[in-house]
Amino acid sequence: MSEEVTTPKKAKRERKPREKMPEQAPEARIHNFDEVPFGYTEQQAVAEAERCIICKKPKCVDGCPVNIDIPKFIAQIRDGDFLGAARTVRSTNSLPAICGRVCPQADQCEVLCVEGIKYEPVAIGNLERFIADWELANDAIEIPAIPPPTGYRIAVVGSGPAGLTVAGDMAKLGHEVTIYEALHRPSGVLVYGIPEFRLPRSVVAKEIDYIRQLGVKFVYDVIIGVTITVDELFEQGYHAVFIGTGAGLPKMMKVPGENLVGVYSANEFLTRVNLMGASREGYDTPIRFAKHTVVVGGGNTAMDAARVSLRVSGNPVTLVYRRSMEEIPARREEIHHAVEEGIKFDLLVAPLEVIGDDKGQVKAIKCIRMGLGEPDDSGRRRPVPIEGSEFIIDCDTVIVAIGNSPNPIIPRNTPGIESSKWGTIVADEETGATSRRGVYAGGDIVSGAATVILAMGAGRKAATAMDAYVRTLPLTRRNPYGDT
Ligand SMILES: Cc1cc2nc3c(=O)[nH]c(=O)nc-3n(C[C@H](O)[C@H](O)[C@H](O)COP(=O)(O)OP(=O)(O)OC[C@H]3O[C@@H](n4cnc5c(N)ncnc54)[C@H](O)[C@@H]3O)c2cc1C
Ligand code: SF4
Repeated sequence: MSEEVTTPKKAKRERKPREKMPEQAPEARIHNFDEVPFGYTEQQAVAEAERCIICKKPKCVDGCPVNIDIPKFIAQIRDGDFLGAARTVRSTNSLPAICGRVCPQADQCEVLCVEGIKYEPVAIGNLERFIADWELANDAIEIPAIPPPTGYRIAVVGSGPAGLTVAGDMAKLGHEVTIYEALHRPSGVLVYGIPEFRLPRSVVAKEIDYIRQLGVKFVYDVIIGVTITVDELFEQGYHAVFIGTGAGLPKMMKVPGENLVGVYSANEFLTRVNLMGASREGYDTPIRFAKHTVVVGGGNTAMDAARVSLRVSGNPVTLVYRRSMEEIPARREEIHHAVEEGIKFDLLVAPLEVIGDDKGQVKAIKCIRMGLGEPDDSGRRRPVPIEGSEFIIDCDTVIVAIGNSPNPIIPRNTPGIESSKWGTIVADEETGATSRRGVYAGGDIVSGAATVILAMGAGRKAATAMDAYVRTLPLTRRNPYGDT
């Protein structure tokens, strides 16, 4: 780790509680889409940074998928060197304002923080967010000097965190990079899935601006595998292609009544509200203003769907999840916020059937209570139905948020790309190389639905490997597959 940071003397240290992030009161925020936490003030950030003991062997760094030098940037905040801290974070993380808001820090870096063994862990995520916001607010992002063009051309498919990371890293190395995106705007789940009150569009837009300033070009409304194939990209002269198409295919419950009017996949519901103005007047894709919504699932997507539904409808929302609070996978902060906002959690409950009225509209959902058996493949205790415990919840809207599968278009339409039985693209964990020469992949399309930072980590590794690969190709050969 860095030499310039110093460890405060233990004897002199007085232990302080973790700085609490100020946030909108629940009764106010359920009526708006404004961001819930306000972020630390400078004084709070310095006070929180002073809680870090700047460990010589910092465990927190091991928990960070992009290995941010956490003690270094925290020491820089402690010393009031905000610019230095911003540079430290950005040197390994090109989307820090996003990660500071949505990374599961409680399970990654903070869970390993030594202060957390006896006391509360240092609020690493809040500090990352503070420093990234400071950098954006002070227009202090440094665009690195780009080396002269190498002449190599890279196509990136998908503009989610995996694609953005590869694109940024490849552009910094002097390659010409174009991102192809199926939707009309960039960022993948960051804008179509995660709502504004967790991740404001303005923050995402500024991070995208950084990628653009590195020289990356964006082409929208193009579905690779349909509008243009991967083969055609090579024919157009790209030397390598990265596939970061995510896991955008919703899983459904496979219970009777799932086709009734009033049942949405969380992806459809969130996309309509987040991207298509469905909750606002004058837009062509209206959403049902539910009297009672039941959300099925326990991940971040389920929390987002429940909290968005509450804001859109102003009416009660119940979340049913088949395991207990112990196993629930969403970020703890989101669960805490959802509970504060009045989302009712009905845990150890699984849906059996959606019940409709004579017009084919949802009127209730039939569920069963579950017990917990032995651990399953995921290491979590397996939910087991309790016979005779069926019950009915009256509702007019059901949102299914039980997971997403990889987007199947490219694996289906690209010869030579090996995929798994789950529909993911098979790629080398260290390099992102697929079974097809010159084609790399990473993020949810390889791992299945995961996290922003894991997608970014995969993007970084793939960029290193792609850079090495393209440099083996003769530049005169525009298409590495033949017609020189
Ligand atoms: C509602 C929701 C909330 C979440 N909350 C969190 C959270 O709090 N923290 C966290 O870490 N993770 C969260 N996640 C997961 C996280 O967003 C994903 O793991 C991450 O976005 C994956 O990044 P990616 O780049 O692989 O794919 P994506 O973000 O899915 O991006 C893929 C992009 O590829 C485009 N695309 C797909 N097919 C094609 C094609 N054929 N041609 C061109 N473009 C194509 C898509 O339109 C999309 O823009 C959440 C996910 C959801 C759905
Ligand atoms: S483990 Fe905790 S106390 Fe140690 S350097 Fe990391 S954040 Fe600071």
